[in-house]
Amino acid sequence: MKDHPGDGIRTPWEEPPKEGEAIEVAPGVLWMRLPLPMKLDHVNVYALDDGDGWTVVDTGMASKRGKAIWRALLEGPLAGRALRRVVVTHHHPDHIGMAGWLMAETGAELVMTRTAWLMARMLTLDEQALPPAETLTFYRRAGMATDIYDARATERPFNFADVVSPLPLGYTRIQQDDRIEMGGRSWDVHIGNGHAPEHATFWSRDDASVLAGDQILSSISPNIGVYPTEPMADPIADWLEACERLAELARPDHLVLGGHKLPFTGLPLRMQQLIGNHHGALARLLEYLETPKAAGECFAPLFKRSIGAGEYGLALVEAVAHLSHLHQTGLATRSLRDDDAWVYQRKD
Ligand SMILES: [Zn+2]
Ligand SMILES: [Zn+2]
Repeated sequence: MKDHPGDGIRTPWEEPPKEGEAIEVAPGVLWMRLPLPMKLDHVNVYALDDGDGWTVVDTGMASKRGKAIWRALLEGPLAGRALRRVVVTHHHPDHIGMAGWLMAETGAELVMTRTAWLMARMLTLDEQALPPAETLTFYRRAGMATDIYDARATERPFNFADVVSPLPLGYTRIQQDDRIEMGGRSWDVHIGNGHAPEHATFWSRDDASVLAGDQILSSISPNIGVYPTEPMADPIADWLEACERLAELARPDHLVLGGHKLPFTGLPLRMQQLIGNHHGALARLLEYLETPKAAGECFAPLFKRSIGAGEYGLALVEAVAHLSHLHQTGLATRSLRDDDAWVYQRKD
């Protein structure tokens, strides 16, 4: 990959906004942060000045502390003016978590893609005291480590509803090729995929701003996983298709406002990296599959670092995604081992 002068990745702000504060990253566009209780400890949210009120993009996970921070943001940087719309880029809890609460507090309307809204509504209503049989089957097929499997089988699983406020009925749908007015600009809606289904991104027609959610991040590769809700999904194929399509739109001067980490410029190069990371991972994995391996045995070639307990779940679903892509594109075989795990082997 050739890094032309001027095409490199730059981060105009090295320090994120402090809790309860905002940084104006473009006229009428405020960047704010909310905390997350995990290794990735923050999510970025944005407020766009519509003149008669605000549109916010993404909301953070629901928590007492998060709600207190939102109250401080609404009164402080947002100056007590009306919150008219909540736009959510994708259904993950760190983005949709407080959307329902903000709607109830302020009367704001919700704007999302249909798939993202359906996923979020479905998952908040599907409360589980123990993992259902399908989830346990999925874990065994993934070759989850026995001690982790035994612990999870008897514990209340992560529940969407624990960190996502109830979503009231009713939303406004956005889809590919829509245009939406926010913050005194017209934005083209382009749909991403792979990290989350029907993930919305917004490309300003009037300046160089791009609201990218988690489809495009500056310094981490968005997680791409397969879940028990759709065990035969091929999100790697979805990801590559979406990134190649979005790369066509990318300009070096675009200011990319993503869901995590820092805003950046140098998008054409970043898109090539995001695509290249997965081609590289797939090649290393294929090399490793000389003998049959389950997903839980493929962390070393995929991640090139050790995986801690806090990351195990995300690493496992990402390993399944890469192996299943090799299988579904005809590069690897898949068969069921005695321990009920799918094992994958390179085709010669
Ligand atoms: Zn996400
Ligand atoms: Zn996120």
